[in-house]
Amino acid sequence: MPNSTSSPEQINEIRQSVKQLCAQYGEDYWLELDRTNGFPTEFVQELTTSGFLTVLIPEEYGGAGLGVLEGAAVMEEVCRAGAHAGACHAQMYVMGSVLRHGSEAQKKRYLPPIAAGELRLQSFGVTEPTTGTDTTSLKTTAQKRGDVYVVNGQKVWISRIQHSDLMVLLARTTPRDQVQRKTEGLSAFIVDVKAAEGNGLTIQPIESMINHHSCELFFDNLEVPADQLLGEEGKGFKVILDGMNAERILIASECVGDGRYFIDKATAYASDRTVFDRPIGQNQGVQFPIARCYAEVEAASLMVEKAARLFDAGEDCAAEANMAKMLASEASWHAGDVCMQTHGGFAFAKEYHIERKFRETRLYQIAPISTNLILSYIGEHVLKMPRSF
Ligand SMILES: Cc1cc2nc3c(=O)[nH]c(=O)nc-3n(C[C@H](O)[C@H](O)[C@H](O)COP(=O)(O)OP(=O)(O)OC[C@H]3O[C@@H](n4cnc5c(N)ncnc54)[C@H](O)[C@@H]3O)c2cc1C
Repeated sequence: MPNSTSSPEQINEIRQSVKQLCAQYGEDYWLELDRTNGFPTEFVQELTTSGFLTVLIPEEYGGAGLGVLEGAAVMEEVCRAGAHAGACHAQMYVMGSVLRHGSEAQKKRYLPPIAAGELRLQSFGVTEPTTGTDTTSLKTTAQKRGDVYVVNGQKVWISRIQHSDLMVLLARTTPRDQVQRKTEGLSAFIVDVKAAEGNGLTIQPIESMINHHSCELFFDNLEVPADQLLGEEGKGFKVILDGMNAERILIASECVGDGRYFIDKATAYASDRTVFDRPIGQNQGVQFPIARCYAEVEAASLMVEKAARLFDAGEDCAAEANMAKMLASEASWHAGDVCMQTHGGFAFAKEYHIERKFRETRLYQIAPISTNLILSYIGEHVLKMPRSF
């Protein structure tokens, strides 16, 4: 298991190196991609080959063998630099499903080329149009026929698939009315995207509010080799569930990065912009909201760190990971709103970049899990109140 053994100085070194790398891809680079719906292929490749996107892969498979604490520092700095982490973060956490549940043969086959930047595991296919958050009701099926599973169904919002070689897919292998618990009978698969497309898999991009490269997927008798089953048949929900804490902590760290980005921008502008013969930041009506956002982002950052340390120590961190994700996504959104307000009309000019980041950070109150679902987790599992669904 990866572990965070880095000292604060070493984590600071990671932060500085990521910052330097990101500085080569300035905000105009991201704005242009946003305008053209482009994908930051060079950036993702460089972040991978520099070892930052593969920090969680153990050394024996070619990665740095570090923990989520270090991974969180990487993602935070990416976002603080004005970049859009949505293009690359999944490489960090989807890999964890293969690491924790893959056979030794699968790990040897996939992890070293992922660590070397030769193979991209950027995509995971869980959400479906008709069942949404109710994951265990998903309708995509995978039926075993000889040495293949035949997949039929539909997915929605599957991000980065056009820029990924592999996808981890969740499908039902035993009908829901034939299992005792609804979490049983689901299975996870490693799908070779390039081999599948046009041979049972159709990919249709979704035009969306942010440059996230999300797609609808249609499965029509797609054959997935049986040795691509990830973990045990019928136990796929656990494969996905196990990856969720790391995913939530990393997404939360991105929100902290976004929040700090907005506060950096708002502070600089408030100190510089002069109206009525004085900097607007001299007015408490402008200064206090920024100060409040700073306090909120700092508090969220502490929860991210707590969750990451628990995760890396192998302890239960579901409550902390969920709370970190909720607090950080709300703090970054609030900071984005205050940053917009601080910039007045110029907030709407694309060249200021704020409106792009404002749109991007909004996602995290909805995906990969919405705030209501986190509140229901806390209510039911932490506070032991009645189950609501
Ligand atoms: C840009 C983008 C990228 C994404 N990338 C991926 C991806 O790569 N892979 C993937 O599998 N999925 C992906 N998703 C899907 C994402 O995880 C889902 O959108 C999210 O989990 C919410 O599901 P839903 O959209 O079906 O909302 P719904 O489940 O329809 O929920 C709608 C609203 O109702 C609320 N709600 C629902 N049920 C309850 C309840 N019982 N109590 C209280 N409130 C409730 C929710 O909180 C939410 O606010 C992505 C989504 C977006 C927008």
